[in-house]
Amino acid sequence: MKNILLSLILLLLSSFTFGADEAPPPKKDKTEKDIASADVCAICHEKITFKRPLSCQHSFCEKCILRWFEKNPSCPTCRCDQTYFSNLPLLSSNDSGVQQSAARNLAFLSRNNQENQNAIRQAGAIPRLVTLLESDDFLTKDYVAGVLLDLAYNNLENQSVIIANINLNEGLKDRVHNECPHLYSTLF
Ligand SMILES: [Zn+2]
Ligand SMILES: [Zn+2]
Repeated sequence: MKNILLSLILLLLSSFTFGADEAPPPKKDKTEKDIASADVCAICHEKITFKRPLSCQHSFCEKCILRWFEKNPSCPTCRCDQTYFSNLPLLSSNDSGVQQSAARNLAFLSRNNQENQNAIRQAGAIPRLVTLLESDDFLTKDYVAGVLLDLAYNNLENQSVIIANINLNEGLKDRVHNECPHLYSTLF
């Protein structure tokens, strides 16, 4: 009985101490302001929609940065080189012409250049490229198979990442066999 009373008293005490009214007021300091300004797009000067952070950690609206990259492969804020990153998001564009030109640029960058081959892999391009192999657009598929060939050329690590990503998609290996025979014979 003594124990039950004690726990009741403790329960009452705790509800007083940690009641909702007791919560400290939110701090209005510098960091809150910083976060707010980081959410403003430096291109359109509005609140960022579909945030797209670059390798330099500057962020912009996806549609703003995609439009920017069509003309200029650098960060609008710090001007750092975004050659790989500028082409990577373009692969996700809804415009197949933009996808194709990004694929062509990545192929050009990776051709006989192991440093670029590795940088493009490390930037996460391979899963996105492999997904595009399922595109219904024949020309897109053709360009993407071309980049994958350039990425895989004399690069065992890239080959194994490409193979692993193709195997992740059920039935894709057969499609590659039928639709991109040159890529298939290089990889498998
Ligand atoms: Zn914007
Ligand atoms: Zn930047």
